[in-house]
Formats: sequence, structure tokens, C-alpha cells
Amino acid sequence: MQSSIWHPFTQHGLGKQEINVAKSQGAYLYRPDGSRIIDAISSWWVITHGHCHPKIVAAVQEQAQTLDQVIFAGFTHDPAQRVSKALLARAGDHHKYSFFSDSGSTAVEVALKMAVGYWHHRGEKRQKIIALEGAYHGDTFGTMAAGERCVFNKVYEPYLFDVIHVPVPLPGAEDEALSALDDVLAQHGDDVAAFIFEPLVQGAGGMRMYAPEMLKAMCDACQARGALLIADEVMTGFGRTGSFFACDQAGVAPDLMAVSKGLTGGFLPMGITLATQDIYDAFYHEDRAKMFYHSSSFTGNPMACAAAYASLKIWDEEDVFGRINAIADHHRAATEMLQNLPNVEKVTQCGTILALHCKVDDASGYLANIGQEFYDYAMARGILMRALGSVIYILPPYSISAEDLSDIYQCISDFLNKRK
Ligand SMILES: *Cc1c(COP(=O)(O)O)cnc(C)c1O
Repeated sequence: MQSSIWHPFTQHGLGKQEINVAKSQGAYLYRPDGSRIIDAISSWWVITHGHCHPKIVAAVQEQAQTLDQVIFAGFTHDPAQRVSKALLARAGDHHKYSFFSDSGSTAVEVALKMAVGYWHHRGEKRQKIIALEGAYHGDTFGTMAAGERCVFNKVYEPYLFDVIHVPVPLPGAEDEALSALDDVLAQHGDDVAAFIFEPLVQGAGGMRMYAPEMLKAMCDACQARGALLIADEVMTGFGRTGSFFACDQAGVAPDLMAVSKGLTGGFLPMGITLATQDIYDAFYHEDRAKMFYHSSSFTGNPMACAAAYASLKIWDEEDVFGRINAIADHHRAATEMLQNLPNVEKVTQCGTILALHCKVDDASGYLANIGQEFYDYAMARGILMRALGSVIYILPPYSISAEDLSDIYQCISDFLNKRK
């Protein structure tokens, strides 16, 4: 069938056919012919409790019959109020306000705009943003600017604002990273508006993991110079790293926190930026010129809110952490076997995320061949996995069974043994 759809992150010139999916349930996707695919990457990191969780389905069905959509400037509704309260409670008492948008990119974009606006409205000239090398914060211009300059955004580089990128304190490179940050702060400290980071795991950058103590040290250094902290928890939030938020493990309390992917359990698109009282107060005024000028048409969509609230309630009602810990235990038990496979440099794990960093002799980076080969191999075995360059990773829905995890480990093992 000739398709008229231009797909994301897809080179149509390679002539590959998209895979049609008709149904989803739990950890599985089903094609129209009924054949099953294990969703080992949670449909691009969004699904938490499993596809079509009955409680989320019911909540959205009910909401759809009551209130579909309403303007969110000057109007409000209970579904959004409930989500805000529940999410702020999950984030501790640190944040006081939720700003709704539609995706991870917009949640981060909003955080950046709030940080810049905060300093402006306070009449302090702080303009520089510090970000981490290898960062990914989204695909809009602002979030691309904060991200690593790479093949994703090369074409747009002349249009991206300047950001100071500092090294990630990866295991073995902690001291260099911390001293590089110290140097930047010594030089620019009084001009730094914010430090933005993916806590503990850099996702799209290749599942690069660093220690909570290192995150804490970087945040302390930035805060000591008065910079705001922006945590991009879009991928790491909602249990992926073993704690509800990754920042929880580091004892870091960011001024702004962006969440999205797992917020609705992966059911509907929504982003939220959490802000402290202090951030909110900088925009609070009788002067309209100081209001936060940002909105998108579907901000606070009631059905997305119903999904998010139902998903947050599942965290209260079901043993979600039990499932997360079980996945983490299976990963840990499989690590030695995976570590000894041909061409595996190292295996790293953070909570439910397991990553195999492979040696590559061909093109390195995101376009490395092993990714495409692996994708095809796994798909032929009925497993959805996408390597990030030479990094093969598993990021499953929490409902995945031990059996399916074993099949995934076996698939990786067979692929690397066959390929060597
Ligand atoms: C996916 C992702 C984003 C962007 O989210 P979208 O919903 O795709 O716009 C931002 N930051 C991180 C860390 C992500 O993983």
C-alpha cells in the first residue's frame, strides 16, 4: 500500500515498509493478522503500566462522555486540578505549581522560558544556559539548542542559541567533568540562568548513566552560584530508573521539572512543567506584561488529564514498585551473560533500563549499522527494539513477564553470537 504519511525519524528513501499495528495489550502490540510483537521499549519510552490498562481505558471513556476540551486560559476543570495535586504530591512539597502542555519538548521548552523569564522579571541579567554533552531535550528549536549538537540537529545549528555544554560525570570521568563545570562556573557563574540535565540517564544520547552523587555534586555547584536547576524527567520520570523520579535518588530538588512520556501511562500526549513558589512569584504581578506568555491549544485536555490521574492512581493502588523491582532483578541476573557476549564493551543498568554498549568498527554514533541490523533481527523474532547507534537497550512496560524478558535477553544473545 502506498502511504501518504511522512513518518518521524524515518528515512523514507531507504524504502522500508512501516509496520502496521492494529491492537495493543499489556506488553504486546498486534498486527492486523494477529501476530504479536513484544514492546521491549515501551513504544518509545511512554508506556508504564502496560498498553490499554483497563483503569486508564475506563477513565478516558468516562471523561469522553462528559467534557472533551475547553479553553484553559481563564477556565479550569476538575480533571486537571486532580492531576496537578496528585503530581505535586508525588514530587514532594518542593514544587507548588503545574503548567500543562502537550509533549516532552513543550514541557522542557516551557521550563527554559520560565527560567529566562524569571531572571528577566527580577531584573537580573543572567542569560547563559549550562547543559550536558550528549543531552537530548526534544526537537523544537529551544530544546534542540539545549541538546547535543549532532546529526539530529546539524542542519539547524546556525539557528540555535548558544548553550555551554559540559561533560557528563560518567563512571571513570567524574573528576574531569566536575572540574570542567567548576571552570565554567568560575568564568560565567554570575551570568548562568539555569543548569538543565537529564537526571541519572541520558536517553537518546545512548542510555548514558551517571551516579546520583555526581548529579548532586553538579547541582550543588550550580546552585552555589545562584543558577536555577531544570530537571528533564521526560524519560526518567514515573519509575524508569527505579524511583518515582530520578532526582529522588540524588536528593536533588530542581526549581523546574519537566515530565511527559509516562505521565498518562503513555495513553495520551501531555506534558507538565512543575515550578516552585519562587519561580511562580517572579511572574505574579498586576502588570500583564509579566504574565507567562505560553500556551498551546490543547493545554490541559480533559481526556489526557483523566488518563494521567488514572495512571497516578494505579501507582497508589497497585504494587507498581514491586513490578519495577522485579524487572530490575531480572536485568541484574542477566547482566553477566550479556556482558560476556561478543563485541559487548559494557552493560549498564539503571532501574528498569538495561543497556549494552557494543563495540563498532564501522560508522560510529547514531548511524552505526548494528542498530538497523539488530532492529530487523529482533523484529523477525517478534520483538520491538531500536538500538541507539551502537547501544542496544531494553526499557520495558512494567507489566512485562519474566518469560518475555528472557526471550528478549535470548534474542540479544543470539544476535550478537551470530554477528561476531
Ligand atoms: C523524549 C524526550 C523529550 C521530548 O519529548 P517529546 O514528547 O518527544 O517531545 C525530551 N526530553 C527527554 C529526556 C526525552 O527523552
